[in-house]
Amino acid sequence: MVAPFCEHCGRPQVRPTAYCAACRGGDKDALALVRVATVYTEPVRSAIRGLKYGAQPELAPLLARYLIAAAQQPPWPDILPMLDGVVPVPLHAKRLADRRYNQSGLLGRAFVEHFGLPLADSWLHRSRQTQSQVGLSAVERRQNVADAFQAGGEVAGKRLLLVDDVFTTGATLTACAQALKLAGAVEVYGLVLATPAPSGGTLPDDV
Ligand SMILES: [Zn+2]
Repeated sequence: MVAPFCEHCGRPQVRPTAYCAACRGGDKDALALVRVATVYTEPVRSAIRGLKYGAQPELAPLLARYLIAAAQQPPWPDILPMLDGVVPVPLHAKRLADRRYNQSGLLGRAFVEHFGLPLADSWLHRSRQTQSQVGLSAVERRQNVADAFQAGGEVAGKRLLLVDDVFTTGATLTACAQALKLAGAVEVYGLVLATPAPSGGTLPDDV
């Protein structure tokens, strides 16, 4: 990710400040730290859309290279050896059946194969089907995904890395981290493929 970015959530910023406006409030939520690999612009945007909506799972290993490159930068070389598992953000069973694969699961699989880490893709479930986040405001996105995820007792005492494809408001990633912490995870980190460039807070209309 091109500097400057928020030291907590990893979002790119227009001016260099330690924390973005959202993270400055003091409530740093359930995520210890989030980093974003790249900006949601071409050609990454088209590739992500092909992976998510174009039935092109073969794009996952290519896109995972951004995650792998990001995880070779500080602070990840210190964090990766402590991880007990890499948790892709899950899809609801219905959407998984429609799409036939979880795009974040495919990214996570390529990621763990590179680093020799355990893939923990059964430790977190989307227990409630949520409306698509497309077109929702930040507040609506938080409400939409609140309590949508559940984790089992196997995460107790674990240090985990959440992996997702796109990070906009962070509502989904935060809800996942809250579910993992509620089930006893000691530390939850996040690594996301792409986020919109800083542009006055508007959300892209297609993620
Ligand atoms: Zn932030």
